[in-house]
Amino acid sequence: EKKAPTNFIHQQIEAELAEGKNDGRVHTRFPPEPNGYLHIGHAKSICLNFGIAEKYNGLTNLRFDDTNPTKEETEYVDSIKADVRWLGFDWGDREYYASDYFDKLYEFAVTLINRGLAYVDFQSQEIISQQRGTPQRPGIDSPYRNTSPEENLMHFEKMRNGEYDEGHCVLRAKVDMASPNMHMRDPLMYRVLKKTHHRTGDKWCIYPMYDFAHGQSDYWEGITHSVCTLEFEIHRPLYDWFVDELKTDDYRPRQIEFSRLNLSYTVMSKRRLLELVQKKYVSGWDDPRMPTISGLRRRGYTPESIRKFSERIGVTKVDGVTDVALLEHAVREDLNKRAQRVMGVLNPLKVVITNFPEGKEEMNQAVNNPEDESMGKRSVPFSRELYIERDDFMEDPPRKFFRLAPGREVRLRYAYFITCNEVVKDENGEITELRCTYDPETKGGNAPDGRKVKATLHWVSAKHAVKAEVRLYDRLFNDPDPAGHKDVDFKEFLNPDSLTILSECYVEPFVKDAQPLDHFQFERIGYFNLDPESTPEKMRFNRTVSLRETWKK
Ligand code: ATP
Ligand code: MG
Ligand code: MG
Repeated sequence: EKKAPTNFIHQQIEAELAEGKNDGRVHTRFPPEPNGYLHIGHAKSICLNFGIAEKYNGLTNLRFDDTNPTKEETEYVDSIKADVRWLGFDWGDREYYASDYFDKLYEFAVTLINRGLAYVDFQSQEIISQQRGTPQRPGIDSPYRNTSPEENLMHFEKMRNGEYDEGHCVLRAKVDMASPNMHMRDPLMYRVLKKTHHRTGDKWCIYPMYDFAHGQSDYWEGITHSVCTLEFEIHRPLYDWFVDELKTDDYRPRQIEFSRLNLSYTVMSKRRLLELVQKKYVSGWDDPRMPTISGLRRRGYTPESIRKFSERIGVTKVDGVTDVALLEHAVREDLNKRAQRVMGVLNPLKVVITNFPEGKEEMNQAVNNPEDESMGKRSVPFSRELYIERDDFMEDPPRKFFRLAPGREVRLRYAYFITCNEVVKDENGEITELRCTYDPETKGGNAPDGRKVKATLHWVSAKHAVKAEVRLYDRLFNDPDPAGHKDVDFKEFLNPDSLTILSECYVEPFVKDAQPLDHFQFERIGYFNLDPESTPEKMRFNRTVSLRETWKK
């Protein structure tokens, strides 16, 4: 279906299509550097790039921007592919690597040297940046700037052959040392890095800079719209400069910048996420508290909820911070539609129904999802011994507490009205059991005499319930902008209560056959999913999100 343009990039594409630009071709790419796992910010870029192709009958390449062997690994390549696929996007056979272009890039560098547009500079990094000057005054030419192509070719070849150490020299483009744009003041094209690359091994000991690789890769792949985040806006003239030197026809990929996603209470840079993983502040990249796609997946987020979130936040050129509550809202809304309802008790308190015969059991019908009739019904066993939530009982309730209390009647969801007659305690005064009676006339939850109760509680049958571990998550950071404090490290803002493990929870037997990542709503408590490390002997559930927003600012 063709929808109206919803953002400035769509508008631009439609204007170009109207002019017949690029013969009506629309081709985007998603270009992750395989130096970490993808996060929710990448999801925005993935949805945008693949979304454009879907909307305009185009294509999207998955391109690994693997020009820096010091930080890149195959583990990351694999996780990125799995995450993009899980989000619901398919790049077909268009899987590319910047490293596939190392030969062509080298050749192009040689061309630029021959044209007198590139030179090997033997000065130190400090001197080179000093000479660049400030935007207000022109820079100073390197003494190597006007060396001959022959001399530069010889040195570049030596660089490539490993004859120069790391840091000994670099290849620079000869652009404009007086440009007000500092990126145009003879930017670096190649540096020496004597490192093994995850794909090219030890074939190379010089590696291209991002700016020298990206536009050319776009050109070779026939990309029409090279969408990236705003910080690259200032790189665009350089992107164009290289492409203009390279291109042999009218076609030229166009870089378009949009504002990156920033989320409150979240750090998003891979460098910081890597630090959390390496220093074991979290259990791994897929820790359910991480803003990574794998973390969100394990937490119970659905691909649909992430795509919906990406669509809602929109695409603009204005940097801002998105409230993380919006992301939570998106998954709550999605799971409301799809999650199987069950009853689960997190902090059990035993209830004995004294007038229900011992050994008897009864099945009650329960609705699997009130939002989706097609999900049908299930049977929930009822028996003499039950568990209810400890918080749902108070011995001496304040005025506004309407749940169970001595002498009071409440409804057990899908079952009966019960009345609490006796509170049993241990020698420390801790409540160990409630003794209640049920009214057989109230089966299904209503009294024939029309009497009302003020509360409906969830419960499980003790004998039938599955014992499980439940993990409750809170925000990983307790500051809205953990990485935004000048003199304080972001780790200082880690929330010490971000993980609570409850080891004795009881869930109705329906969940016995659950598969990893299956979604549930535990009625009245929240959305949960089965953790991938769960076993039939020791079931483990993660709370994805509570039913309502509970975070107190
Ligand atoms: P980080 O700083 O987290 O390492 P990056 O931009 O270096 O991010 P890349 O792997 O280079 O990570 O990113 C791949 C693509 O995803 C790029 O096009 C980049 O612009 C985009 N991207 C990265 N972070 C965000 C974000 N927070 N919001 C939107 N797009 C993003
Ligand atoms: Mg990058
Ligand atoms: Mg990066």
